[in-house]
Amino acid sequence: MVTPFVDGWDFVQTLGEGAYGEVKLALNRSTQEAVAVKVINLTKSKGAADNVRKEVCIHRMLTNPRVIQFYGQRKETNVQYLFLEYASGGELFDRIEPDVGMPPKQAQNYFIQLITGVEYLHKKGVTHRDLKPENLLLDENDNLKISDFGLATVFRHQGKERLLGKCCGTPPYVAPEVLKKKEYHAEPSDLWSCGVILVAMLAGELPWDEPSYDCKEFCNWLDKRVELTPWRKIDTMSLALLKKMLSEAPSNRCTLAQIKKDRWYCKTFKSKGISRLPSSSPPGSFKRVCSGTDLSPTSGINRDDTPGKYSSSQPVTCAGTGSNGIDSSSVDDLLYGVSFSQPVHLDDMLLSSQLPSTPGNSQTPFQKLVKRMTRFFTKYTKEETMQSLLEVLEKLGYRGKQTCPVQVTITTEDKRRNPLIFKATLIDMDRKVLVDFRLSKGDGLEFKRKFVKIKHKLSSIIMKGPVQLQR
Ligand code: AMP
Repeated sequence: MVTPFVDGWDFVQTLGEGAYGEVKLALNRSTQEAVAVKVINLTKSKGAADNVRKEVCIHRMLTNPRVIQFYGQRKETNVQYLFLEYASGGELFDRIEPDVGMPPKQAQNYFIQLITGVEYLHKKGVTHRDLKPENLLLDENDNLKISDFGLATVFRHQGKERLLGKCCGTPPYVAPEVLKKKEYHAEPSDLWSCGVILVAMLAGELPWDEPSYDCKEFCNWLDKRVELTPWRKIDTMSLALLKKMLSEAPSNRCTLAQIKKDRWYCKTFKSKGISRLPSSSPPGSFKRVCSGTDLSPTSGINRDDTPGKYSSSQPVTCAGTGSNGIDSSSVDDLLYGVSFSQPVHLDDMLLSSQLPSTPGNSQTPFQKLVKRMTRFFTKYTKEETMQSLLEVLEKLGYRGKQTCPVQVTITTEDKRRNPLIFKATLIDMDRKVLVDFRLSKGDGLEFKRKFVKIKHKLSSIIMKGPVQLQR
């Protein structure tokens, strides 16, 4: 059973977790229109209400195919709901294979879309300040959409630019000048983050924990040690672009206009059309290689607010200063090509005073519609699956805390010793058990590495090959 949200709309699934609450998928029962609902608990932190107000204020002025559309909001006592365009393709993160990345042609496609989106924001005088693959969502056609404007701010108003002083963002993606606690220009700092995202897409790893002189990997980059990883995995043409984008001094960094003229950016990759490998592809191969999206740049192509202390991939605000993760291909195959219409029945949701009760569990055919790579089906019952999972977690030295019969919270550390927390949820689907993993806190690539380890250890109970579900 799913939980009715407002009349005619159901919360069918949790899509992700943010700093102040969860993002849920709401579906209209009769039309199957889909909307993402960000549920924000305003009591969770002191600044939550102010932050949400700012997020809404900025997000509602943005209308562009490269930006998740903001539909509206509703407030109920201590909970605020933000209604957003639903991106059924998941996060860009799901397309990055740990330590490998993705094919350069696909990376170029996403990168062009990202730059197009950032260009739109900057033209509007808005800087995102937390660009990273977790905040880049994909729709059913692999179109990239910038999301989460929780740290965004206006840097240009009526043609007048203001310098920024707030040190915020996610350390591996943040520009060096942002960490220096001096005033900085907004545009080059967003472009730096785009450069780090490009590294993640091409190499499947992040180049450093943070761009400071305390970080050896960053110093190696400044010393041009490109024979080291991740640089040695990247071809010379894309490396030339990265050198311009990841130039330490913002004044030397290339501008948007220069990026758009770059050789790699403009390169035409040989078109192989849509190439999808069979489910028996060897580990490390890509299941969905090419999107078929228009490549032309103009085509419609957890926050942790604790000052000072942060974990590797969670955004921070320092106040006071100015499978492969790839799943049994069956799920993706089933989900491929499902499309949603834009909501026209949203008014009910925006107006209704009805409160959703506990989020519905996901025993619904709609569950099939959401693409994730960090999941698999098992051949056993929920109880047996849970037992095997807990045993594997213990063997791997991860702390697994069963929070209810169908959910376990897994706590461990990434290779940089930053906390990594994720959840596994067991869902009955057509007499099979779907084990769905979702990151709660920490670095997404590290999460996928751990997922692959767990999946490998559970291989004897995992269903192989295409899994047929009743529609
Ligand atoms: P946020 O709180 O905005 O950081 O969102 C947390 C997570 O929820 C994201 O990383 C996505 O996985 C998921 N999510 C957020 N917004 C959407 C959306 N519009 N469509 C689909 N998934 C979303």
